[in-house]
Amino acid sequence: MSLRSVPGINIIGAGLAGSLLAILLAKRGFKVTVYERRADPRTANADGGRSINLALASRGIRGLAAAGVLDRVMPLAIAMRGRMVHEHDGSAELQMYGVRPEEVIHSVSRADLNRALIEAAAGLPNVEFHFRQLCLGLAHERDVLEFRDEANGRIYHCAAQPTIATDGAGSAVRDSLLAREVSAVREEPLEHDYKELTIPAVNGGYALDPNALHIWPRGGFMLIALPNRDFTFTATLFLARSGTNSFADLGSPAAVEGFFTREFPSAKALMPDLAREFFEHLQGSLGTVYTHGWHLGGNVLLLGDAAHAIVPFHGQGMNCAFEDCAELVRLMDHHESWAGLFEAFEHERRPNTDAIARMALENYIEMREAVLDAGYRKKKKEAEAREKADPSVIPRYSKVMFHPEIPYSEAAKQP
Ligand SMILES: Cc1cc2nc3c(=O)[nH]c(=O)nc-3n(C[C@H](O)[C@H](O)[C@H](O)COP(=O)(O)OP(=O)(O)OC[C@H]3O[C@@H](n4cnc5c(N)ncnc54)[C@H](O)[C@@H]3O)c2cc1C
Repeated sequence: MSLRSVPGINIIGAGLAGSLLAILLAKRGFKVTVYERRADPRTANADGGRSINLALASRGIRGLAAAGVLDRVMPLAIAMRGRMVHEHDGSAELQMYGVRPEEVIHSVSRADLNRALIEAAAGLPNVEFHFRQLCLGLAHERDVLEFRDEANGRIYHCAAQPTIATDGAGSAVRDSLLAREVSAVREEPLEHDYKELTIPAVNGGYALDPNALHIWPRGGFMLIALPNRDFTFTATLFLARSGTNSFADLGSPAAVEGFFTREFPSAKALMPDLAREFFEHLQGSLGTVYTHGWHLGGNVLLLGDAAHAIVPFHGQGMNCAFEDCAELVRLMDHHESWAGLFEAFEHERRPNTDAIARMALENYIEMREAVLDAGYRKKKKEAEAREKADPSVIPRYSKVMFHPEIPYSEAAKQP
């Protein structure tokens, strides 16, 4: 099947990757149909009205630029120039991310970003969205997709034509490929979960420096906070599920208050709703999904978290998914058939997604522990001095965050 001969392309999931990919493919002239299980975020309230944010870095920005949507997205973003490390005694130190003023990362609301991308895609004449349509995977022994219309429970089928599955870490399409033994999947759950909390505005302004990513590292666990445009911060607690200092220990408001007073006194002073939020908000799980076999011939391709979900500690899951989108479209210039394109995409991307999966796990230790260490800080300062003297000597963190021209697999070669 040649690239141009198809009637259209299906995208499953109008999340971050799916909505960006819809724009990129539509701008290439394809007719794109997007199926999403949630309600339309332009009319419904995503994230239950809570602010959940993400760090956007240069790989993600490059993907957004390729789609021509930076004008819409960058006004939503807040620059963070470094990590503000909060010690036990209440002191705080800013560790800069890069050595140049433009080497910053950006805090952006997931809901605002998703809505902006859906609006941009929906504004194109050749993109159609179908919300509240749950993809159940591939129909039994046929290369057609099965859906349930969440409005009335009707089950129906669609030709693959081809289909790109961006249905996230729990991908139903990946499950179908696994059941057919097209894909092999290894899931590595993390023993630590997370919970999102709020640091509200104080007197109509930010309670902390908004141009930093705040970390309260405590060795085996940590609290982080990223700024929102409404002067709040979204704080995320990363903590073991069980054992000493774990979610299992925090079964009552008194236990939560006591834990935060002991471990994060400076943050707790800024969280008046801590105990209520703690019990109202979901405890999320984290993990890495390694998939081998991302495509079913030229019919179906997994992309973004559906192919390679990673832990969030390098702030790269979305950035990597946006890079996937831009790379897939770039590879279209070099391939005649969908099967060839999908094959080349997996061949090129998998070494890179495996590399960022490993670096993301390593970065958890760096964030929750190493940043406190005097030896680590000294080495970081020395690396900065070397890079200033010779811009070609780039630390690994900077390669990942600020140098999209360097593949993840290259960056990962550096210890
Ligand atoms: C706590 C946390 C913090 C993070 N922080 C960062 C960060 O700072 N920076 C960063 O780059 N990344 C971060 N990430 C990772 C980032 O969220 C993901 O990598 C990114 O959302 C992947 O995009 P995606 O489009 O592949 O999947 P998603 O954004 O999850 O989108 C999947 C879409 O598919 C839809 N869907 C799912 N199943 C079906 C179905 N069966 N039928 C139809 N539709 C379906 C969903 O409703 C959703 O809209 C973080 C993740 C977590 C959990």
